[in-house]
Amino acid sequence: MDRRQHLGALLAAAAGASLPLAARAQAYPNKPVRLIVPFAPGGTTDIIARIVAERMSATIGQNMIVENRAGGGGTVGTLEVVRAAPDGYMLGMGTVSSTAANPAINPRNPYDPLVDLTPISNIAATPNVIAVHPSFPARDFRAFLAELRKSPGKYSYASSGTGGNNHLLMELFKVLSKTFVLHIPYRGSGPAINDTVAGVVPILFDNLPSSLPFIRDGRLVPIVVAAPTRLAVLPNVPTFAEMGMEPVNRMAFYGFVGPKNLPKEVVDRIHGATRTIVQEPAVRKRIEDTGSVILGNTPAEFAAQIRAELEVFRRVVREQKLTLD
Ligand code: GLU
Repeated sequence: MDRRQHLGALLAAAAGASLPLAARAQAYPNKPVRLIVPFAPGGTTDIIARIVAERMSATIGQNMIVENRAGGGGTVGTLEVVRAAPDGYMLGMGTVSSTAANPAINPRNPYDPLVDLTPISNIAATPNVIAVHPSFPARDFRAFLAELRKSPGKYSYASSGTGGNNHLLMELFKVLSKTFVLHIPYRGSGPAINDTVAGVVPILFDNLPSSLPFIRDGRLVPIVVAAPTRLAVLPNVPTFAEMGMEPVNRMAFYGFVGPKNLPKEVVDRIHGATRTIVQEPAVRKRIEDTGSVILGNTPAEFAAQIRAELEVFRRVVREQKLTLD
């Protein structure tokens, strides 16, 4: 470097140093944000993620790219989020399965949801449903129960994955109803629904948003739902609580999470954008049409929900002696 070049380099460095930080590195986000859906396409996690991500791109000025990383009942994709750099460019969908059910039942779950994740905002809560293939010899709860009791072990059910909320709630249902149905886990509700609709598996335990289109066109028959009250979209279907099974009457939820130590700037930006998006009438309608309840709550509220749900599932696992096998 000759003297002129040296002087030029010094001047450039000095100019850079005197600029405020925000002017040197444009504020978050300055490149696309990846959003990990820890289940296969076609499930409720995927449905909610894609509704919000589409609007997120317009709101934060950068694309939010949805990537499905299915496996382990939501734990495989969540582990990827846990291991991501805490810079806000890889976020994930936090679900009941990945933040509560699996951590509660699996002593070797590879992360602690209360330590290794930063909750950002819970987007929506959704009812759950037991549905059957139209060829199943029952179309309402009492007949369904009678059929299961008559033929223990004859039937199997599809779930979104081992250790997930659909698996654990169906196992709880089996304990409380003294029935036996074989568990067939899938890499998410998408493939679980496909096989139930195809008649490969007769019974499905699912989150309502993914099943509802199939219920509406008669390819699945709803038997019972988990929701605080009967649903406007399924007025003739009773809740588990009505049927004397209050402990099974638990909703699912879907929200944004990041790895631990996510900077406040990132949390505030995504939380703020989420609040804006869930107020948009078109988004509200799309989410509410799936039978879901919009939340868009604060990071602290979402953290408290995860903690409470983990406690509930830990108690269920302990009291009902549920295990992974
Ligand atoms: N059952 C999972 C949950 O609510 C979601 C399944 C899916 O999106 O495929 O945690």
